Amino acid sequence: MTKLNRRSFLGASIGGALGASGLIAGEACARSTPVPAKWDRTVDVLVVGSGFSGLSAAIEARTNGAEVLCIEKMAVIGGNSVLSAGGLASPGNDLQVAAGIKDSPELLLADMLKSGGHLNNVECAKVVAYGALDAYRWAKDFLGVKFDRLGYQGGHSVARSACYMNGNGANMIGPMTKKCREIGVPIETRTRLANLVVDDKGAVIGAEVQKGYAFPKENSGKKVMIRARKAVIICSGGFSQNVKLRMLHDPRLGPQLDSTNQPGATGDAMQAAQRIGAADVQMDWIQLGPWTSPDEKGFGVCPKFVESSVGYGLMVDPKTGRRFVNETGNRKVRSDAILLTGHPAVLLVSEANIKHVPPSTIEAGLKNGAIRKFADLGSLAAAYGIDAGALGKSVARWNEAIAARKDPDYAAKIFDDTVPNEGTFYACRLWPRVHYCMGGLAINTKAEVISTDLAVIPGLYAAGEATGGVHGMVRLGTVSIADCLVFGRVAGRNAARRAA
Ligand SMILES: Cc1cc2nc3c(=O)[nH]c(=O)nc-3n(C[C@H](O)[C@H](O)[C@H](O)COP(=O)(O)OP(=O)(O)OC[C@H]3O[C@@H](n4cnc5c(N)ncnc54)[C@H](O)[C@@H]3O)c2cc1C
Repeated sequence: MTKLNRRSFLGASIGGALGASGLIAGEACARSTPVPAKWDRTVDVLVVGSGFSGLSAAIEARTNGAEVLCIEKMAVIGGNSVLSAGGLASPGNDLQVAAGIKDSPELLLADMLKSGGHLNNVECAKVVAYGALDAYRWAKDFLGVKFDRLGYQGGHSVARSACYMNGNGANMIGPMTKKCREIGVPIETRTRLANLVVDDKGAVIGAEVQKGYAFPKENSGKKVMIRARKAVIICSGGFSQNVKLRMLHDPRLGPQLDSTNQPGATGDAMQAAQRIGAADVQMDWIQLGPWTSPDEKGFGVCPKFVESSVGYGLMVDPKTGRRFVNETGNRKVRSDAILLTGHPAVLLVSEANIKHVPPSTIEAGLKNGAIRKFADLGSLAAAYGIDAGALGKSVARWNEAIAARKDPDYAAKIFDDTVPNEGTFYACRLWPRVHYCMGGLAINTKAEVISTDLAVIPGLYAAGEATGGVHGMVRLGTVSIADCLVFGRVAGRNAARRAA
């Protein structure tokens, strides 16, 4: 049995922690599929997953000269990415410049570390913060993604999210799949990574896949062995839909909590990497979205309504009629506070303060009933069973904060164009859902996957939500997409340049 390659050892500080006892390859690959006598198919780079990270990796690997195959276990392309509803945090993007907002990678990094509780892998977070503007330009100029709006998300110091057209993830996945077609990257759906194949030196050299896989039938499809001359890149997203796995790491997140994710977000490709000795990090940091409503299914329209209304309107506990948290705080702060009350919160905002909510969002919310419109505060209080006197006092106090441009109670952000809340109101109820996994496979700044003995696993890369460490304990809104594009491209480029 051969030792894993020490030349690719991570660094002196980690080396000290490792000591002399390295994991031997035989142990590491004990649960990989044996090297077959004959491969069914050979490519240079095999990309697992067709979301933003997978397609970014595939396009970048192809444009760097590699023959690439992208596999997707579900019947449709796009994973959570196609469901995504916002944008791409990118300091210095042209929408931000046009709005006269000053920003920098340093400020984005500082926001990521603050929100991440300084548990972030700082070097990887830097790669994202300093690479986000280039990723935005690549999406806009090379892929032809259309961005139509600048967005603000709780926890960021400034508005910096370039929102793709109509906040519809398909408007970014579409140009990516078109580019794949143009440059010759096949994307094969209903093809699932089952196991990785590792050689006697501990390097990943291919994969066992199930062709014709019918999610969620575990053993469906035909076994096909694919040789990857250069590398396999795991871009398989998170595990928010795997109740057992998320409960293993955070026992509070049982089946009573819905998820915003697509059903295939189960983490099985990440587990295939773990089976050959890949390390994972921060698996118990699983993010709840504070802006989902029990009055609609999945992600719904309320998140966009809420994120465009915070800093303008207020959120109250219907039992007390009072505010209870900083509405512009990060997702964890808000979700934890709502869960602690034990029942859905109510967010309310006056008509004069919804100028940044896309009209289509209001329209859709009014239609499905999750957003409601009220002629005055009294009728809103009655509809949600809130004490009208207490609610009136809370609104008056928030309006005083708006006039003073300072929130003495929770230090919420108040924007320059926020005006007092009066007259006609819009409102919705909010109850958190499992949304994002901060934890996942351990990678370094080159997107190489790190083993449990802290060495690089040759031939294995990962990017996007399948990885952990970039975001620490709390990911900021719209930084996942920046992460997917930046690290997807890093992985694709490095995989393509690797010797076959
Ligand atoms: C509703 C919603 C809205 C969001 N909005 C935003 C936003 O505005 N901005 C932002 O930054 N983030 C947002 N996020 C988070 C962000 O969209 C995701 O974190 C990101 O798109 C993940 O991209 P990915 O490429 O890592 O994974 P995904 O897009 O989830 O793609 C992974 C793919 O891999 C496939 N796969 C999994 N296992 C296997 C296997 N064994 N074999 C083959 N294929 C496999 C999956 O089926 C999936 O299609 C949102 C998330 C959701 C759910």
